[in-house]
Amino acid sequence: MINFNIPPFLGNETEYIKRAVMNKKICGDGEFTKKCNSWIEQNTGTYKALLTTSCTHALEMAAILSEIQPGDEVIMPSYTFVSTADAFVMKGAKIVFVDIRPDTMNINENLIEDAINERTRAIVPVHYAGVSCEMDKIMEIAKKYKLIVVEDAAQGVKSLYKGRSLGTIGDYGCYSFHETKNYSMGEGGALLINNSDKIEKAEIIREKGTNRSKFFRGQIDKYTWVDYGSSYLPSDINAAYLWAQLENSDKINDYRLNVWNTYYNGLSDIKEITLPVVPEACTHNAHMFYIKTKDLQERTDLIKYLKENDIQAVFHYIPLHSSPAGKKYGYFHGEDIYTTKESERLLRLPLYYGISEKDVKTVINTIKEFYK
Ligand SMILES: *Cc1c(COP(=O)(O)O)cnc(C)c1O
Repeated sequence: MINFNIPPFLGNETEYIKRAVMNKKICGDGEFTKKCNSWIEQNTGTYKALLTTSCTHALEMAAILSEIQPGDEVIMPSYTFVSTADAFVMKGAKIVFVDIRPDTMNINENLIEDAINERTRAIVPVHYAGVSCEMDKIMEIAKKYKLIVVEDAAQGVKSLYKGRSLGTIGDYGCYSFHETKNYSMGEGGALLINNSDKIEKAEIIREKGTNRSKFFRGQIDKYTWVDYGSSYLPSDINAAYLWAQLENSDKINDYRLNVWNTYYNGLSDIKEITLPVVPEACTHNAHMFYIKTKDLQERTDLIKYLKENDIQAVFHYIPLHSSPAGKKYGYFHGEDIYTTKESERLLRLPLYYGISEKDVKTVINTIKEFYK
């Protein structure tokens, strides 16, 4: 069986977990949490990175920090994971979905302005497959209408837009370190704060509404409840697992890019399928390799054919606006020209750190056989 995904394991994870245990500090903000936070800060240039229990929670923190109020509207694509919307629904926001671009599957930046009204508070671009949205245009609109930008960069760790790290361009960036992502800690994520005024508040929200972070730094002599908060900091044991990958991030990134390029070159002469597009402004991280079939029926047949050949290939999001919660909490602004149609064509191929070249070739050849 060629699996769709196998979580990354570089080798040092178990040693680091052992060290976290021996440190006798397995709660949050221990040695490895600090290492991971600094790695993100140094590698992306964000003011402050805080490891969180998930990307969903990083998005929730961003929604709280953005002071989203009931009735506020938040613009995002419908072609995304539920968490992108959930975080804002939690604060009572109405979700406004706009159509995607068929080439990158990202929000169509040219449709955002028309969806803005007096209730609009934020734009949430999702960098699908680690390929950036058109951030220059999105930031220009946000500036014009004084909107907050929260980048869902769950899939975008180590990706760039015009040389800038994804997650550092908007007001907040959210990373995921779930086991299906390029770098993993089982369950986890990070919030990137690109405005230094919001750091203290973010630390308070992450620490149950207390100023405990300040206390641990010795800046105050006792800590207390100062604001609303929750528990968004992960155990140092999880961070230890992640550290083994972050310190090897180039190795992982190169490996994945190599697999991605092998797929791209190997599949490029099949006329019936569409291959992913990476615009010139974007440096991607090979988070995902997908192809697009003619339509839903052809995709269903191909999934079945691959399965019969012991290959696990999977489709992705069902557009949120067509789901029960999507209908309850949001609406689609404008016409759904590409969201549903393109989502029904998209098929993700096996791609993980350590997948063998032989397996990648088998996937390519099996797809070629299908179209013969
Ligand atoms: C994976 C993912 C999330 C959620 O990440 P978790 O860490 O599992 O909460 C959110 N948005 C997108 C686009 C994702 O791919």
